[in-house]
Amino acid sequence: MTSYPKLLAPLDLGFTTLKNRVLMGSMHTGLEEAGDWNRVAAFYGARAKGGVGLIVTGGMAPNKEGGVMPGAAGLFSDEDIANHAIATKRVHDEGGKIAMQILHAGRYAFSPDCVAPSAIKSPISMFKPKALDEAGIQKQIADIAMAATRAQAAGYDGVEIMGSEGYFLNQFLVTHTNKREDRWGGSYENRMRLPLEVVRRVRQSVGRKFIIIYRLSMIDLIPNGSTWREVVQLARAIEMAGATIINTGIGWHEARIPTIATSVPRAAFTWVTQKLMGEVNIPIITSNRINIPEVAEEVLQNGAADMVSMARPFLADPNFVAKAAAGQAALIAPCIACNQACLDHTFSLKMSTCLVNPRACYETELVLEPTGTPKNIAIVGAGPAGLATAIAAAERGHHVSLFDAAEEIGGQLNLAKQVPGKEEFKGLVAWYRAMLETLDIKQHLGRRVGVDDLTGFDEVVIATGALPRDPEIKGQDLPHVLSYADVLRGADVGKRVAVIGAGGIGFDIAEYLVTGKSPTLDLAAWKAEWGVADPEDAPGGLADSGPQPEPPLRQVTLLQRKASKLGKGLGKTTGWIHRAALHMKDVAMIGGVNYEEITADGLMISEGEARETPRLIKADNIVLCAGQVPERSLADALAAKGMGCHIIGGADVAAELDAKRAILQGTKLAMEL
Ligand code: FAD
Ligand code: NAP
Ligand code: SF4
Repeated sequence: MTSYPKLLAPLDLGFTTLKNRVLMGSMHTGLEEAGDWNRVAAFYGARAKGGVGLIVTGGMAPNKEGGVMPGAAGLFSDEDIANHAIATKRVHDEGGKIAMQILHAGRYAFSPDCVAPSAIKSPISMFKPKALDEAGIQKQIADIAMAATRAQAAGYDGVEIMGSEGYFLNQFLVTHTNKREDRWGGSYENRMRLPLEVVRRVRQSVGRKFIIIYRLSMIDLIPNGSTWREVVQLARAIEMAGATIINTGIGWHEARIPTIATSVPRAAFTWVTQKLMGEVNIPIITSNRINIPEVAEEVLQNGAADMVSMARPFLADPNFVAKAAAGQAALIAPCIACNQACLDHTFSLKMSTCLVNPRACYETELVLEPTGTPKNIAIVGAGPAGLATAIAAAERGHHVSLFDAAEEIGGQLNLAKQVPGKEEFKGLVAWYRAMLETLDIKQHLGRRVGVDDLTGFDEVVIATGALPRDPEIKGQDLPHVLSYADVLRGADVGKRVAVIGAGGIGFDIAEYLVTGKSPTLDLAAWKAEWGVADPEDAPGGLADSGPQPEPPLRQVTLLQRKASKLGKGLGKTTGWIHRAALHMKDVAMIGGVNYEEITADGLMISEGEARETPRLIKADNIVLCAGQVPERSLADALAAKGMGCHIIGGADVAAELDAKRAILQGTKLAMEL
């Protein structure tokens, strides 16, 4: 008997059956735009082989004006159809099913040609859209229907019509973006005419036996969003228009409430989908922040949905479903919802991949071939760099011994996991632990390794990480000065704190110091903190009272020497969340300072090159988060004895180091050993 009976149960759609209740949600990876269709096929094929019930591709443009940016991929020619057919065939050969998402970006398109119901610029785009006339609207409908016809010709099992997240169809639904006075605007019947017409026309074009998923925005999280009555009305009409399945969309891209970041509680929005259960007769999919089979099963057991969508978890592990089915859930590489290598890459116009699994989207390039000559490999340092090397090398067939001075593996991940909102790092360390055991990697923990321990190995890998930088501030040896590691290991901290350094760690320390119980572990508290309400009580789900965060535990001042905005270097898609969270907790942020001296009363600073306006920031404790430098002592000692080694992670380069770079470097090294 499986542990996930609901999740792994087939879903009969009448004309076809999905083998389980797991949908791989749409992700824009950049693969389709790169144009290497064997690579696209390898990516989707691996996920199909891994057992997912239905894959949805990244959004494909129905026409030039609807593309998310100039050059966005779509099915515009016979050549495009033939290329897509390479991917659909691979998925079918692996026993899977795949639907193509049709994404019309409307006013979110990063293009001067963008179109929308009304000429209102979005806050996240530099282009003002052109308001469509009647002929323009008819063209969009025809183009979307044509895209579906072409998807069918390319061998897809269905299409997903993107109607949420604030894109084109969503823009017609709400008065926030639709100010029209013709039959496409005004009353709700008029505003929902376009999505309904699109579904009707797509169904007409593709016939009865083709999956049509409609992604419906169930909680817009913007001012003047849809009411719950409208959501239900739309869902029923979408069913009548011919959709096979309704998928959940949560929040517009311009919403100022996080919806998928790691600080969002797991399954935080399934209660919204659950409200729609019973209102329609077709299956409903729920989504957002579901990343392990236990949670997915629980969601289904609770009757919140008929099926669960997970997107990023399939970057982290293509074999998610197969491992769950085989009773190996502990071996599923977890998506920690960091966005660092997926969405942050997308928004930087880079190919998506995954922090945890750098082989995602690089299936044809980062290939771990079994080794013909197994070696004895010593790896010093069980942080992410050393762990990634150990696992990949052992998977290739090498004999790996892993050393760490600490009693537990994980390196700095064990500090990161203490930060409220970063609890997912616990799952990542647990996964590494399970992988070390299953791959029979010898672990030598709790002892600092010296040169003499490393003789007799074929290869030595130094992954000893990084040490805090010495900022050389007068008075830093006073007893009330702490390092970030002291704080995260539980040191007593007073009520007024000055944090020196506002990089990733400085922000995390500030969050740790102002937060009591982590709202990420308490859905009600998290909803109150960000002002999320039931859309039945407040249109769009924005609470009338606005955000109601818990008062800060401490009075924190976060400082940096640069004059630029604090947090500028944080993640592209998550930096705003960190900044907003600290603002809500009244953290003072001061840039452009000089650290003159730490005294018993606090921190003396001055401003600018002229060292103006010296003043004391009164503080019970000062926390140093002034960056890191490589821990090279062992590497240097080996070099002094003439012993060769590979140096990776923080031990190699500490500047701008993160777990993404450490894991990628470790994986690449393991390919070469
Ligand atoms: P480390 O993780 O530093 O591991 C080095 C290991 O080597 C340690 O376990 C140490 O005990 C061991 N070691 C050293 N010398 C010896 C020796 N002589 N003998 C035996 N063992 C030895 N990164 C992200 O990507 N995203 C985040 O959200 C994020 N958040 C963070 C939050 C905090 C609070 C902190 C502190 C870091 C965060 N990071 C984050 C950074 C990330 O954790 C590091 O970049 C990463 O851990 C570096 O990996 P590493 O393997 O090079 O070194
Ligand atoms: P960091 O991001 O490089 O920040 C270092 C901070 O210290 C900066 O604010 C810098 O600002 C300051 N600083 C540098 N030299 C100093 C000096 N001599 N005296 C005083 N201040 C000094 O490094 P970090 O915060 O230590 O983080 C380490 C790594 O972990 C980072 O590279 C980061 O990517 C990663 N990390 C990532 C996340 C994430 O969410 N992705 C979270 C935490 C950590 P000024 O020079 O302007 O003073
Ligand atoms: Fe998940 Fe982070 Fe990987 Fe993206 S990069 S898939 S958020 S673990």
